[in-house]
Amino acid sequence: MSDFSSDTEDVSTKKSGCCISKQKKSQTCPECMKPAKPVPAVTLAHLLIPTAKAAIGSLENFHFCKTPDCDVIYFQEETILRQDDLIVTVGLKEGAIPATICYCFGWTKEKIEKEIKTYGKSFAPEDIKAKMKDPGCSCKTLNPSGRCCLGDISKAIKELSIFEKKEINLLR
Ligand SMILES: [Zn+2]
Repeated sequence: MSDFSSDTEDVSTKKSGCCISKQKKSQTCPECMKPAKPVPAVTLAHLLIPTAKAAIGSLENFHFCKTPDCDVIYFQEETILRQDDLIVTVGLKEGAIPATICYCFGWTKEKIEKEIKTYGKSFAPEDIKAKMKDPGCSCKTLNPSGRCCLGDISKAIKELSIFEKKEINLLR
């Protein structure tokens, strides 16, 4: 039996609303050793402070580490960039204030948590999906991951809902 499968990822261009990204291979973060996805050069061009940009040769081939308790934001071979090198706070990292998840429409963990407390749910996914259609989003230049935030939004809602339930149970 011949095996035509390979380790290479699907390199076809995937389209999903605003977020068109060529699927490239993940790399391992040099500090937390977790897989990190590639980030477009245009994202770094928008989000790095001028001195950080000046210090690195090329903005190509960087990867974004989303591990909450890892200090690394972007890395490219020997180069590691951290929170101080960015003009925005990376909301996915532990202790980030504000903990922004959706940079296009300003959804933070704080805002989501408030909604869950008040309404028992968050309207973030509906709001973001509606605004993705009109006026449209700019994840590539605003979101440090350079990608659509919807996956991170549902993860945040899930985590905050569990936390909320625990708090209610403690009050009983
Ligand atoms: Zn890391």
